[in-house]
Parts: sequence; C-alpha cells; structure tokens
Amino acid sequence: GRLVNPQPLSREPVNDHALRPQRLADYIGQEQVCRSLDIFMKAARGRGEPLDHVLFHGFPGLGKTTLSYIIANEMGAGIKVTSGPVIEKQGDLAAILTSLQEGDILFIDEIHRLNHVVEEVLYPAMEDFQLDLIIGQGPGARSVKMNLPRFTLVGATTRTGLLTPPLRDRFGVVLRLEFYSPEELVTIVLRSAALLGMHVDHSGALELGRRSRGTPRIANRLLRRVRDFAEVGGHQVVDAKVADEALDLLGVDRFGLDDMDRRILLTVIDKFHGGPIGLETLATVVCEEKNTLEDVYEPFLIQSGFIKRTPRGRVATVKAYEHFQRKSPSRLKN
Ligand code: ADP
Repeated sequence: GRLVNPQPLSREPVNDHALRPQRLADYIGQEQVCRSLDIFMKAARGRGEPLDHVLFHGFPGLGKTTLSYIIANEMGAGIKVTSGPVIEKQGDLAAILTSLQEGDILFIDEIHRLNHVVEEVLYPAMEDFQLDLIIGQGPGARSVKMNLPRFTLVGATTRTGLLTPPLRDRFGVVLRLEFYSPEELVTIVLRSAALLGMHVDHSGALELGRRSRGTPRIANRLLRRVRDFAEVGGHQVVDAKVADEALDLLGVDRFGLDDMDRRILLTVIDKFHGGPIGLETLATVVCEEKNTLEDVYEPFLIQSGFIKRTPRGRVATVKAYEHFQRKSPSRLKN
C-alpha cells in the first residue's frame, strides 16, 4: 500500500464515516460545486421533487462519495451505494432499482465501468423512472415493464470522457471536483484532528496539507500515521517539526512525493539528461508496468509540474531539477 495513493488502501475502510462531513456547511472547499448543489437542492425541495441526476467527476479521494452522502442528508433521503464493476448483470441493477424508495439517492461509484448491457437498463430508469427488462432468451423471451419510484442517481467518475455520451447526457447536473489548496487541506486536517482527539497546531496542519497532494483522503491517511508517530514519541502537540520528522520517516517529502516518484524523476534527470524519454523505456528502468506508470504515478507528477509530456517523450521540468538541487540545462529555461 502506497501511502500517497489517492485510492482507498485495502486495509482502510472505504467508507471512513468518522471523518466524513455530514452536511454541506461542514464540507470544506469546492465552493463552486457546493454553491450549485445548494441551489439545486433548495429548488428541488421547494418543488417537493427529487434532485436531478448528478454526475461528479474528479480524481479519487477528492470527496465525491462524501458529497453523495451529504446530498442524501440534506434531502432527507435514503442512500444506496454501489459501484460500476460490482453490477455485473441487468438483474443486479434491477434488484437495486426496485429496492429504492421515492426520493432515494442511488450512488454509483466508477460509473464509467458499468458494462453496456447494464447501462441500457439505466437509460429508461433515469429518464422515465421505468424498468424495462427482457427476461429469458429466444422465442420464450418476454419484456417486463415496471414503474420505479422517482430517485436521484449520483454517479462518480474520474473523467467524464470515460462515459458513453448517452449516459452522460442523462445527467442534469455535472460537477467537477478540483484538487484542494494547502490552506483548505489545513482546515480539513484540523477538523479531522479534532475528531480523532489529536492536538495539531496550524504549522503541523500546514506541513500535512502541503504533502497531501491536494487530496483529503491522503491528508487524513497521513494524519493517522503522524498520530502514531506522535504517540510513540510522546509528543503532545503535532507542530511543523513533529509533522516534518514523521513524514520524512514515512518517505513523503515536502511536495508529497514518495520514493517511487523520486526514482522516476531522478531517472529522467540523471540517466536521460532530463529527457525526452519514452514511457516504455522509463517503465523498464524504474521496474514498473507501463500502465501503472501512466495511470498511477504520472498524473500527479504532470499536474504538479515536475514532468511534461511531449510528443517525443517525458521531460523533466526546471521545478524537478530545483527540487533535487540540480542545475537544470539551459535549454529548459526559455
Ligand atoms: P472520493 O469518493 O472522491 O474518492 P471520498 O468522498 O471517499 O472521495 O473522500 C475521501 C475522504 O476524504 C473521506 O473519508 C472524507 O473524510 C475526506 N474528505 C473528502 N472531501 C472532504 C471535504 N471537502 N472536507 C472534509 N473532508 C473531506
């Protein structure tokens, strides 16, 4: 388990309710998203109708599941939680849909991973609250139609581009979650620390916030690790010094980079003179699968400006050179 993985680790509770804000007012950051949701929910409540179907997109760990629970709370509705890859057959989805109550929220995480046979059952369900199923095969097959309670589908995906257009078009509200600023992460860390009964001062929270890669899930995970460190070391308060020591020990540097991130960057800088280097070669040298490199490691390195993707391969940036106190080649400066 990689400490800075934005996805839940296998030993971690996926729905870590203890630290989840329950109300929109307690949800930190994502102001645009919260403002829109607030208006849409108030309007729907005023009309006595369920909220329109909502699609959240954004990197893992940014708070999509949390917002879905918040919607249920704010709408006074029940919630059923599932995910795209879990719903294998039309019947699986039919069972979920028929168990819903009027106004309920159905949250489907990783909705882009629904297979297309299942997806087709979702279209009339979303549009007309109709269940439309073919039961059986061949001449004995018959079609079953049923009215469903009016519900709100909340879908989550890492990218809207992964959704088929007919599915995407059926969402009335599409909202994108952004990475959090260090200041927002400070507020999240201080809130989580209070809930965990920890004493973290502002400087300690800032140290944690800076190293959390803009992601609340990582901030909360690092916080729990720092708590172990503080308890064992007999530190009453987590300040910048304690946080710094703990995180260094955990191998997470001041930009939130871990050993593998550093290995990738130093390979490009030292072995390939800053690049360009092809993804395949890079993967071989750092002993990692090409896909893992591209999907797991690269996005953060690119997004935080350490690596650039060019048509000829990956290139280390001036920021990467500076991070390792190395002199960058003059070609990068202009
Ligand atoms: P996602 O569904 O996008 O992967 P989650 O909703 O599961 O992310 O969020 C991961 C964790 O981060 C949650 O347990 C929650 O405690 C915390 N979290 C996410 N967003 C916020 C936020 N805006 N304010 C406070 N905590 C948050």
